[in-house]
Amino acid sequence: MVKRADVIVVGAGVVGAAIAALLGRRGRRVLVIEQGVPGGAVSGASLACIGTHMMDEEELPLLAWCCNVWAELNRRAPRFEYQRCGQLRFLKHEGERRSAEAWIDIERAAGLRPEMLDPEAVRRIEPVLTGPIVAATWSPDSAVVNPFLAVRTLMDAARAGAGEILSGAMATALVTRGGRIAGVETSVGRFEASIVVIAGGPWTQNLAATADVELPIVPRKAQCLATVGTDPVIRTVVGACKAEGGVDAGYTQIQQAASGQVLFNTVLEGGVTAMGSPDVLPEVDRTFVHDSVATLLYLFPGLAQLELLRSWVRYEAVTPDDRFLTGPAGPDGLFIAAGDGGTGFVRSFGMARIIADRIDGRLPPFRDDIYEVGRFAAKAAA
Ligand SMILES: Cc1cc2nc3c(=O)[nH]c(=O)nc-3n(C[C@H](O)[C@H](O)[C@H](O)COP(=O)(O)OP(=O)(O)OC[C@H]3O[C@@H](n4cnc5c(N)ncnc54)[C@H](O)[C@@H]3O)c2cc1C
Repeated sequence: MVKRADVIVVGAGVVGAAIAALLGRRGRRVLVIEQGVPGGAVSGASLACIGTHMMDEEELPLLAWCCNVWAELNRRAPRFEYQRCGQLRFLKHEGERRSAEAWIDIERAAGLRPEMLDPEAVRRIEPVLTGPIVAATWSPDSAVVNPFLAVRTLMDAARAGAGEILSGAMATALVTRGGRIAGVETSVGRFEASIVVIAGGPWTQNLAATADVELPIVPRKAQCLATVGTDPVIRTVVGACKAEGGVDAGYTQIQQAASGQVLFNTVLEGGVTAMGSPDVLPEVDRTFVHDSVATLLYLFPGLAQLELLRSWVRYEAVTPDDRFLTGPAGPDGLFIAAGDGGTGFVRSFGMARIIADRIDGRLPPFRDDIYEVGRFAAKAAA
């Protein structure tokens, strides 16, 4: 194992893996330090839908760019069950239609292809969706991937570019020398590099604090359910299309994995802010199970006999504006890429591009100022 690298990346979730793969392609010797196993934290627990999610107009160019990069990676390395299945976002009430149409206009203006479908057209795409919806938006280019295989594919790419991965080692402190980053102290010894990127998901703020860098990241509980495997019944990703959109609105995601398991979660309004420690993984809440099953059966009454198999909880990294903190922070040579807000799988390539371009003194092909790490401190000072 090397003791010295050009860049140390702490964290082998999808974000750290994407950063390591890109830096490796640009000729840097990268060492990835992971306290568990690659993809074993939030990334492996993900539903890993690759889509624009109709969520944030300012981030739309980056999201669209990321979706294309995922499709391109699938063409080069088709090893992570990428399926361009499309995404339906159902409207439960007529009152939701206007804002859904406004989103369609915004996405079309950005070159995407969403449209509004009536229930009959929805059923042509998703025949088992027989619940009483009033309409749905349709994003034909959304996809899903297998989260473990996606992280593995990226880690393989990093290794191919002279990268190394050290699993089961916890980075305990940042090492600085003369005001610059000099490396990382870990549970298995010290490793040196003049550039360190922390992509530690909901743990990022702990390591950053060892160099007196305070990050406004809070771990937020995310829960999921899976049924036993069954024949292919659900073809698309099915989500809710709430009029409000964004983090405070209700959210639903239902899809069928290549294994046949139906995966689903519902985060109800007011239920999105449960915080906790990512080191303690409790069981899913009973109300969550009840609400999620109710939503599944509202949409897919024909699946009533399907048995639940398992559930899981992980903690996503949330920032005050629900956007990543990505870029330089604190001592020279330190970079942060964390704060996924629950949709970091799709964004991971964008965050990797920002980090790699900042290191190389280039400009990314989309806005990166909205992810500045110091934006909250700067606002408070103003
Ligand atoms: C149920 C669920 C559904 C989701 N659905 C979607 C979706 O459909 N689409 C989407 O885009 N996103 C989705 N997400 C969100 C997405 O999965 C996350 O945003 C993304 O995986 C975050 O990746 P990450 O690399 O930042 O974090 P992580 O995967 O948590 O990786 C961080 C890694 O850093 C390691 N680490 C931390 N600190 C240290 C340290 N000091 N030393 C060594 N290692 C350290 C951790 O062990 C971990 O492996 C979902 C999440 C969940 C839970």
